[in-house]
Amino acid sequence: MRPIIIRDSKVPVMLSLFVDIAAITLFPFIFIRTGQDSDRIIRHETIHFYQYVETAVVGFLLLYLTDWLRGLLRYRNPDKAYMRIRFEQEAYDHETEEGYPENRQAYAWRAYRV
Ligand SMILES: [Zn+2]
Repeated sequence: MRPIIIRDSKVPVMLSLFVDIAAITLFPFIFIRTGQDSDRIIRHETIHFYQYVETAVVGFLLLYLTDWLRGLLRYRNPDKAYMRIRFEQEAYDHETEEGYPENRQAYAWRAYRV
């Protein structure tokens, strides 16, 4: 199973209300803003794609939100809370690693802590 990549998309622009979003994965699509297409971005978002698969989509959304809220309570800082989301930790740690999304251990994000 592979993501459907939509380049030059307006979706990240429309969702950039509070922070600038370069790309976003909304299963099964990866939407990439004009000028943001890179191997690193695609790898990062493809890791999220597989995390969606592992959590039956709805689990990704619920865990993403609860991790962020837990981080917000703990750190009182929205940016720090975002970086502590387990799905983001895995994606940022491995976004420069060629072949990682396809070869990663399933549920690798479980090794991380908020
Ligand atoms: Zn991400």
